[in-house]
Amino acid sequence: MSALFFLDNTAMLILLGVPAAAVFAAGLIYNLLFVRCPHCGYHPGKIMGVKCPHCGKNLEE
Ligand SMILES: [Zn+2]
Repeated sequence: MSALFFLDNTAMLILLGVPAAAVFAAGLIYNLLFVRCPHCGYHPGKIMGVKCPHCGKNLEE
């Protein structure tokens, strides 16, 4: 294994990993800011179903 190979491998990890991490972080931020019940404003965190756990109304209306 040469030093050049190591550098190339690290560069590839950064090139692939930074955008992936940015997309992941953007998804988390989007979820925190915008995923709320349209009826009562409750933020369920990660929506597991189609009904709000707070008011019981359909989240997809
Ligand atoms: Zn609700």
